[in-house]
Amino acid sequence: MTPACWEWSGARTARGYGRVRIGRREFGAHRVALVVATGKPLGDGAHACHACDTPPCVNPGHLFHGDAKVNALDMISKGRRVITPCVGENNGQSKLTEADVRWMRAHPEVDHSSVASALGVSVSLVRQVRRGVGWRWVA
Ligand SMILES: [Zn+2]
Repeated sequence: MTPACWEWSGARTARGYGRVRIGRREFGAHRVALVVATGKPLGDGAHACHACDTPPCVNPGHLFHGDAKVNALDMISKGRRVITPCVGENNGQSKLTEADVRWMRAHPEVDHSSVASALGVSVSLVRQVRRGVGWRWVA
């Protein structure tokens, strides 16, 4: 990726993300940067995630589309650290989905605690799911 972060010099949110006003609405500068650069829209549940872990960064080369949990899992499976700003937007309140369950069973090489922190669930839940104690109905 392009090495340098492009730090947003305008207004920022409390969490450090750049803010940009378009008409009467305010948007995350990183989200706008990603949409402009790729031409792909971001839906309400979609995230513009930072590969560089720098919230004010608006370098499109450091941004990618994604769902928070999917991206966190993707990072782990590639042996990279979890990108906390994206995971944090879910507040750790996320419940498991069938896709999560299938993923954690299909990637036994990823340790319980990494999966747990990515999905915002407890380590014991991950262990149970992998043992087939929970979520038995998911093939
Ligand atoms: Zn960056």
